[in-house]
Amino acid sequence: MQPPAEPFKIKVVEPVNLPSEERRKEAIREAGFNTFLLLSEDVYIDLLTDSGTAAMSDNQWAGMMIGDEAYAGSKNFYNLEKAVLDVLGYKYVVPTHQGRGAEHLMFQHLVKPNQIVPRNMYFTTSKLHVEIPGGKMVDAIIDEAHDPENLHPFKGDMDLNKMQKYVDDYGVEKIAFVSVEMNVNMAGGQPVSMDNLRKLREFCNDYKLKMIYDATRSSENAYFIRERETGYEDTPIIEILREMMSYSDGSVYSSKKDCLVNIGGFLATNDKEIFEATRNMVVIYEGLHTYGGMAGRDMEAVARGLREGTQYEYLKYRVNQVRYLGEMLMEANVPIVKPTGGHAIFLNALKFLPHLEREQWPAQTLAGAIYEDSAVRAMERGAVSKGRDKETGENVFPALELVRLTIPRRVYTNTHMEYTASSIINLYEKRNTIPGLKMVYEPKYLRFFQAKFEQMPL
Ligand SMILES: *Cc1c(COP(=O)(O)O)cnc(C)c1O
Repeated sequence: MQPPAEPFKIKVVEPVNLPSEERRKEAIREAGFNTFLLLSEDVYIDLLTDSGTAAMSDNQWAGMMIGDEAYAGSKNFYNLEKAVLDVLGYKYVVPTHQGRGAEHLMFQHLVKPNQIVPRNMYFTTSKLHVEIPGGKMVDAIIDEAHDPENLHPFKGDMDLNKMQKYVDDYGVEKIAFVSVEMNVNMAGGQPVSMDNLRKLREFCNDYKLKMIYDATRSSENAYFIRERETGYEDTPIIEILREMMSYSDGSVYSSKKDCLVNIGGFLATNDKEIFEATRNMVVIYEGLHTYGGMAGRDMEAVARGLREGTQYEYLKYRVNQVRYLGEMLMEANVPIVKPTGGHAIFLNALKFLPHLEREQWPAQTLAGAIYEDSAVRAMERGAVSKGRDKETGENVFPALELVRLTIPRRVYTNTHMEYTASSIINLYEKRNTIPGLKMVYEPKYLRFFQAKFEQMPL
């Protein structure tokens, strides 16, 4: 495939440094083979996350200069409110410092002890914010999402049979609400179809259940609907978005992804009761209801970014840049999760390093080896991230042992993608020479952030 042409030109650059081979070897050892512990200045291409790492446009930076930092009634809040109405069709907006602030307010309002929240897979902070008020998140994604080789075009779809089973097994009153994530992060950035949303809405109507989206990656999801779903080939992205949202009772939103900003979030709804309850809580936890933890200038950047992030030419370039990296790897038979999603490429470490035992942490090993080879920073998403079983204390080895290469928006060029692919292909060719790791330090909570490792003899 041809590299996608960028729908922008570059006005400001930030120099990056490629450390020497000697320094890379030293740096990854100092970091205990944990890419979270590398210093950013030792990284050449940073593919750790797409969260808060986007490059803003000149229009967004100009908006930062007209930040109205009034404590109450900032004009930037009303610009944000207008942008949410125009793009997503919600009339009520509660601003928050980032996505998890919105989850906190929304879920504290909707979840009662011992209730369940079915969702298409899960997200770390969302799951926790369902658990804090005493609820439990349960999986209702289609089976295809759990198979890295399956080419289903909408691997983010909810399984209505699983939904029916939750209703039958638990009873409607035990379901707090139905949670639907757009372009499911943990499944590899896989979209939900409009058809599925429509059917789920009918299902929720039948049982009088509320349907709340995690709309964080809804613009990228809308792009996939236009690309793959019959009837939407020529539909403007904003129309697709508004139809998607029209099936919901509200959304939580982390602006750090599709809104092309470095910080921010909000929740939005047309349901007056949800709005009044959450607007009441926002003043306790985040800030006044016209800033919610964001500076006026940040709200302006979010308002402009929300609109910009729905431009078709931009989304086409964005999704195709991720795809370009994926195609280069697939051409060289490097095992990745298929089809390529919206924001990241996931390497299948069990297939990449079949000579390693699970206890030798293949994904952790591979992320370290990629850094050592090229100073590209990736992230482990496998057994180290999964942690230990709460009851038995044993390591849990999930079916998927992956390395995530997450692409920041508008930040890296296609040549950076080529550089990344060629390093990984080079490693794949000499994969038998990559030694596994031994965990030598294990923190009690969220161990993947701070665990340390040493190389074992091959
Ligand atoms: C990032 C993210 C969140 C949390 O948002 P923050 O802005 O990091 O607090 C919630 N849901 C999804 C799907 C995300 O990707």
